[in-house]
Amino acid sequence: MSKPAQGPPFAATRKALAEALAEIDGLLPGSVVVRLMRCGKPNCACKADPPALHGPYTQWTRTVRGKTVTKLLTDEQLARYQPWFDNSRRLQDLVAKLEIVSLQAIGTADQLTTKTATPHSTPARKRRKTHT
Ligand SMILES: [Zn+2]
Repeated sequence: MSKPAQGPPFAATRKALAEALAEIDGLLPGSVVVRLMRCGKPNCACKADPPALHGPYTQWTRTVRGKTVTKLLTDEQLARYQPWFDNSRRLQDLVAKLEIVSLQAIGTADQLTTKTATPHSTPARKRRKTHT
């Protein structure tokens, strides 16, 4: 996609990411799976051996106030919702990339990446071996 920027640290990359973020005008939480199912009828073909399962069904699962909520989607609904499901994944991807280039940008500007790892950030359990 892009080479590491030369000039102002990664500004071009951040701008591109910000523009891509701005295009996201809707997103839906949760995940969508397509699955075959058994029903509740005792003598149904879905209980046979081998079973003839029902479906495939498209299930949308998400969490609402700590509870898992599942809803079956019709093909028409899935087609309509799909861009917003895709946007959720896209948003996570863009945020992750923006974090990376932002960290690179401050690291380049302030030399943070090369200097912070030393003195008082060491955990208490680790002894320092800097005596000579
Ligand atoms: Zn059945």
